[in-house]
Amino acid sequence: MSYKSGRHFLQIPGPSPVPDRILRAMDNPVIDHRGPEFADLGQAVLAGIKRIFKTESPVVIYPASGTGAWEAALVNTLSPGDRVLMCETGQFATLWHELASKLGLEVEFIPGDWRHGADPQAIAERLRRDDGHQIQAVCVVHNETSTGVTSRIGDIRRAIDDTGHPALFMVDTISGLASADYRHDEWGVDVTVSGSQKGLMLPPGISFNALSDKALARAKQARLPRSYWDWGAMLASNATGYFPYTPATNLLYGLKEAIHMLEVEGLDHVFARHQRHAEATRRAVQAWGLEVLCLNPAEHSPVLTTVLLPEGHDADRLRRLILERFDMSLGAGLGKLKGRVFRIGHLGAINDLTLLGTLAGVEMGLACAGVPHQPGGVQEAMRFLADR
Ligand code: PLP
Repeated sequence: MSYKSGRHFLQIPGPSPVPDRILRAMDNPVIDHRGPEFADLGQAVLAGIKRIFKTESPVVIYPASGTGAWEAALVNTLSPGDRVLMCETGQFATLWHELASKLGLEVEFIPGDWRHGADPQAIAERLRRDDGHQIQAVCVVHNETSTGVTSRIGDIRRAIDDTGHPALFMVDTISGLASADYRHDEWGVDVTVSGSQKGLMLPPGISFNALSDKALARAKQARLPRSYWDWGAMLASNATGYFPYTPATNLLYGLKEAIHMLEVEGLDHVFARHQRHAEATRRAVQAWGLEVLCLNPAEHSPVLTTVLLPEGHDADRLRRLILERFDMSLGAGLGKLKGRVFRIGHLGAINDLTLLGTLAGVEMGLACAGVPHQPGGVQEAMRFLADR
C-alpha cells in the first residue's frame, strides 16, 4: 500500500472515528483492576453510562463486542424453549434471531421488507393472540444499521402496554445510543443492548446491558446456561466499582472521557446535530436523484443513510473506487442488500465540514463510477447546513 496523506475518512456506520481526546484518555498505563485506584474509574463509568441510557437501573459493561451483549440479554432472562417475538427489520435483526435460535429459543419473526421499522400494531396484534402468554420477550432493533431505519421504541412500548401482555421488552440500540434519542426508563425497556464503537465514539471492545427491575426478577428464574455473561456476579462486583474478571481498563478510560464529552455538548444537542446531518445527507441523495432505502420519513435514521443504486450498478464497485481514489470507507450492503446499496455513516464525532467532505467523496465517486445521477448534492447539503 502506498502512503496516503491526510486522514482516512471512516464513514461506515460504526466503528466511528475515535476523537483525539478519547485516544489520549486511553493512552495511560493499565492499572491493577483489583487495586484501590480502579474503583474510582469503575464507579465513574458505571454511574455515567446510566445517564447516557437515561436509566436509574444498573448498566452492565462487558469486555465484548455487541454480539456478546445480545447473548447476555437472552441468557440472563430466558429458559430453553422459551418463545420470543422478533421483527425482521434487516440484517442485524436477522443475526439476533439466529443467535436466539442457536441458544434453543423458539423465535417468531414478524416479516419485514427492510425498508420500514418494526410495526407497533403488528407486535400488539401478535401479543393479543397469545392468550396463554407463551411469548416471554419482544426483541426489537432500535437503529437497524443495515438499512438506516429507526424503529419507534416509545410507540412499540405503548402498543405492548395496550395489550396488557407481560412479555419482557428488549431493545438493541447498539448503533443508536448517544446518536439517536434513547430513553431506557421512560420507554419501559427491560434490557437495552448497546456497544462502544458507534455513538460513544470509542474503539470496539466493550458492550452494555441496561436492566430493569422486571429483567432482574426474571433473571432469578431464567435457566439458559450462563457464566461469563451472568449479571449476578457482575452486579455484586460493580457495587464497589469492580468487575468479576479483567475489565477492558483502557476502554473504560476512554468511556469516561466520552461520557464527559457527550455531557459537555449536552445529549439533546448531540441528537439534534445527528438529525441535522442526516437531513443534509438525505437532501444530497435526493438532489443526486438516488433513492434513500428507508421509506417512512418518521423512521429515517439520524445515524446513517442507506442509498439504493439504480438497477445494474454495483454498490461494492462504487465503494471500492471511492476507497482507492478518495481514501474514504463507506458501509457495504449487508445480507440481501449486498451490492445493491451503500451506507453513509454520519454518527459520533462529526461536524459540518466532515459531512461535506464525505458527501463530496460520494458525489465524485458516483461520477467516476458512471452511476447515473444529477450533480449538485453537495451544493444542496451546503445550502441546508449554511441556513441552519
Ligand atoms: N446490532 C446492531 C444494530 C449493529 O449495528 C451491530 C454491529 O454493527 C451489532 C448488533 C453487532 O455488534 P458487534 O459487531 O459489535 O458484535
